[in-house]
Amino acid sequence: MNTVLIIGAGGVGHVVAHKCAQMNAAYDEIHLASRTKSKCDAIAADVKARTGRTITTHAIDADDVAATTALLKEIKPQLVINVALPYQDLHLMDACLNAGIDYLDTANYEPLDVAKFEYSWQWEYQDRFRNAGLMALLGSGFDPGVTNVFTAWALKHHFDEIHTLDIIDVNGGNHGQAFATNFNPEINIREVTAECRHWENGDFRTTDPMSMHRPFTCPEEVGTYEIYRMYHEELESLVKHIPTIKRAQFWMSFSPNYINHLQVLQNVGMTRIDPVQYNGVEIVPLQFLKAVLPNPGDLGKTTQGRTCIGNVITGIKDGQYKAIYIYNICDHEACFAEVGSQAISYTTGVPAAIGGSLMLRKVWDQDGVVNMEQNDPDPFMEELNKWGLPWQCIELTREQAEMLAVQ
Ligand code: NDP
Repeated sequence: MNTVLIIGAGGVGHVVAHKCAQMNAAYDEIHLASRTKSKCDAIAADVKARTGRTITTHAIDADDVAATTALLKEIKPQLVINVALPYQDLHLMDACLNAGIDYLDTANYEPLDVAKFEYSWQWEYQDRFRNAGLMALLGSGFDPGVTNVFTAWALKHHFDEIHTLDIIDVNGGNHGQAFATNFNPEINIREVTAECRHWENGDFRTTDPMSMHRPFTCPEEVGTYEIYRMYHEELESLVKHIPTIKRAQFWMSFSPNYINHLQVLQNVGMTRIDPVQYNGVEIVPLQFLKAVLPNPGDLGKTTQGRTCIGNVITGIKDGQYKAIYIYNICDHEACFAEVGSQAISYTTGVPAAIGGSLMLRKVWDQDGVVNMEQNDPDPFMEELNKWGLPWQCIELTREQAEMLAVQ
């Protein structure tokens, strides 16, 4: 019998719980634990109403390794799906090692006091997971996650060598709020205000945050949006595992309204992550800002429009230039109708549940710390079509690829 423990009851945890409940061939027993148990109970009640399945809930501070280890030994799951925050990654990996349980997450570890995104900390767990005969699957969301699998699938079926990779994440949705982030505001703002790094000819090049941008027209009439080049963690693992890549860039769309608000918040110091004294209490401005911004998990009711996330990939096949664009389009309102969430949480939660189901069914089965592109992409690509994230792959001319890929 396959038992899973999902940790984190936010926007993404909500979707993972619903999707695991739908995937009853892979998930026999589902547990959900988070810092605030009432949030787990609300999700469990919603899942019960929509699917009839029962989820057992628990309170846990995932930064308490001993308490988490004890909970794991009590529940005895085969898999932990970590959809808490990146700060918890290492503590949860430690607890999984202590209890002998496989691990999956959707975002790489970040220390609380430095906005630093890299896999080095988690890759250091390689020997410990391998020696224990356990698997830790890193980054099974959409980006990272599906974007890594798109790249591996392109290499398997379309290219002898990949030369350029442009990952383009467009949210064409409108939530009707003056300012809100699509996922955890603290993590989101740390990510977009960090300096930009992209891969070019064997090195990461650094540029100012949001300094490079241009319009991008999505297929299927999703629209034209301004996309900004920024650093994203999948670039690090993809250029390591696919060394023929000469240039890799990540782009995300932001509305003028979002950029204006962000600039003001930065200018007045509200995005700082160092503590300041306020009325004799130490507060971190960005954490305080999170407390007053809309909860991304509550945006589903009002969000309309579609997301379009995909990869423009160029390279060589049989000695000839080749270019393709693989993408998924996801409708915010359809996601809300299905599971009660907007498309950003949905596009992250569905791949987490799929990655977990492939691990539980031993379709993906490797000892050690594994990035998404190190697995066979085919079963994952099939499951995306089955579980709500259908994808398209179109061949591009060189001219189209150069226009799309934003030179
Ligand atoms: P939320 O802030 O909505 O939810 C986070 C949840 O984790 C909350 O329930 C929170 O509890 C819980 N939590 C925080 N700290 C602890 C702790 N110490 N112990 C136990 N539980 C804790 O975030 P999201 O759902 O938006 O994001 C979840 C994860 O998904 C993040 O890591 C994010 O980076 C990642 N993500 C990945 C994407 C991808 O495509 N790969 C895209 C979007 C997000 P409480 O409610 O009590 O605060």
